[in-house]
Parts: sequence; C-alpha cells; structure tokens
Amino acid sequence: MAKKITFGSTDHQIYPLGFGGIPISRVSKKEAVKAVKGAVAGGVNFIDTAIAYGDSEEKIGAALKEIETEVFLASKTPAKNSKEAREDLEESLRNLGLEKINLYQLHNVSSEEDYENQIAKDNSALKGLQQAKSEGLIEHIGVTGHADDLLIRAIKEENFASVQFCYNFIEYEAEEKLLPLAREMDLGLIAMKPLAGGRLEQVDLALKYILHQGDIIAIPGMETSQEVEENLAIAAAQEKLTGSEKEKITELREEIGDNFCRRCGYCLPCPEDIAIPMVLRVDSFINRMTPEKVAEWLGDKIEPAENCQECEICVERCPFDLPIPGLIKENVASAKKRMD
Ligand code: SF4
Ligand code: SF4
Repeated sequence: MAKKITFGSTDHQIYPLGFGGIPISRVSKKEAVKAVKGAVAGGVNFIDTAIAYGDSEEKIGAALKEIETEVFLASKTPAKNSKEAREDLEESLRNLGLEKINLYQLHNVSSEEDYENQIAKDNSALKGLQQAKSEGLIEHIGVTGHADDLLIRAIKEENFASVQFCYNFIEYEAEEKLLPLAREMDLGLIAMKPLAGGRLEQVDLALKYILHQGDIIAIPGMETSQEVEENLAIAAAQEKLTGSEKEKITELREEIGDNFCRRCGYCLPCPEDIAIPMVLRVDSFINRMTPEKVAEWLGDKIEPAENCQECEICVERCPFDLPIPGLIKENVASAKKRMD
C-alpha cells in the first residue's frame, strides 16, 4: 500500500488516494454507500465533498454510520458572507451526521469578486468559518479554486491549513509557483481533477503522476465499486513512474496540447449568459454519463450556448487563448447528438 502522508502541519496521517465526492450524487444511496465503504475498507481515509454537490454529503453521512474506521472529512461552502458560511457549515454537519468537521474549505475562489466576498471583506465567508473554528465546529480551514494566482494570494494573506487546486499531468501549472509555495508553507495539498475532469482516460498514469510525489492527496471522483477497486489497486502498487510512462506523458501532453479548458472562469461573464467552462466540458460528461444524465446535467446549459454571438469578449479574457466560440459550437453539436 502507498504510504500515508502527514497532512500539512496537522498531525493527521492521510492515505494519498482520497475519495472525491461529486459523482456519488448521480447514483443511488445504496450504490454511493457501497462505494464509500469499499474505498474506506481499502485504506482510503480522506473524503472530500461539498454542500454544492447535490446529496453527496447526505450519502457520505449515511456511509459513515456504517463505518468504524476513523476518516478525515472535508467539505466546502461557496458562501459569499459569514452568515451564509455559518448556515452552510451547520447544514454540512447535519448532512454528514457530525458535530465537528476536520476540514471546511472555501469553495472555488475564482475571481476578484469571490476573493472579496469569500476572504477579504469584514463579513467574509472566511470570517464566519474562523468564528465557527473558535467554537470548535471546524478543526481546520482550507481554500479551493482553479485560479492559481488567487490561491497563492489567499495562502499568503490568510492562515489556511490546506489548498485544493486543479492538478494532473496535462494541467500542471501549479508546479511552477503554487506547489513550491504551498510546500514551503507546509500546507495540506489536495489535487482535484486528477483525471482532468474525465479528459484523461489513462487512469493509472494520471493517478501515479500525482501519487508518486509522496505529499499530495489525489481525490478522483468515484461512484462505482469497480472504480474504487481500480483506483485502490493503482495506489496500492505504489510504483514510481517508469521511463516509458514518463515518455507516454510527454506524448499525451503534446497530443492533447493546450486546446482544452482549465475551468478557471476568467472568460466569464458572457453577455449571453453562457456557462462557458461547463459547455466546454461536454465531452468529459458525455464519456462518463448516460444520455439521460447528460440531459439532466447539461440540458439547460446547451440552449443558451446556441446563442453565442461570436463577440470574442471571452477569447480576449482567456489566458490560454482558446478559440471559445468554435469550441462551443463543437461541444453543443456533441451534446445534442448524445441527447437525441
Ligand atoms: S463569444 Fe460567445 S461565449 Fe464568448 S462572450 Fe461572446 S457570446 Fe459569450
Ligand atoms: S475558456 Fe479559458 S478562461 Fe474560460 S474557463 Fe476555460 S480556460 Fe478559463
């Protein structure tokens, strides 16, 4: 089995394969509980969820009632002020059946406005969480997001225990500044999107890329027992990347190139209210979901996307120079085909 790692400056010892709680919101409670219990039985002791992930917290709460092993629980709030943050925390605790949570994170700090509301202003969400921590409802506070520069600012300006960032072998910008700084500051490191939101099909390679580093918790989303078993087997092998695997990663990086959306949200807002990052992920949804689920998750996003005026305001804002209007067209066509 992979070695446990110390979670930042806390005294928690965490297995580096964590449980990402988004996908269980799409399956029945029975299947969700089975997946969580299977993961924990296989050594996973870190579960990440969010109040915004449908009924994920409730399903995890149900699984926890049947688990005797101690598990480190992490959830998050997208609240924009201290009152909402407190309300979210209390709801998360109720959903999970806990009196205190190990880690409560600010969910997706992705713009200057978010930074102000979630972190900086007098009645920010962070202030609400700090108050709750002083009352013993939260053990540690963390921050999450897709925009490395905002995360860097957050961890420099405030006292977070952990940072959760987008990280996989095709989205590895964090290696440049965020990771070295977070390591220097001894923060808990949580890699979200280890499979690039479904873009990477080479699960073993993608997980090994993160796990072999020895200090990062990867939290792939898991909804079936089969996925749990596969991920556990990869983590258990605890193998270093071989020379040929490193070559394969270089090859895939070249093949996939830079032409994919990192979900940073810098392109927003769109004057036509198009949920650009969501629409540009259609392929990853399609690969993983039934047509019914695609319709459920994307139905209301596709119609506005057909109104793209090709004004290119978003293109000017995108730091990766993505040809967004063209990509929107391609994704809309794929989604409609799948939903037909
Ligand atoms: S090009 Fe399309 S998606 Fe981009 S801002 Fe204009 S209308 Fe919105
Ligand atoms: S289109 Fe560009 S700016 Fe918008 S979320 Fe994707 S990568 Fe970020």
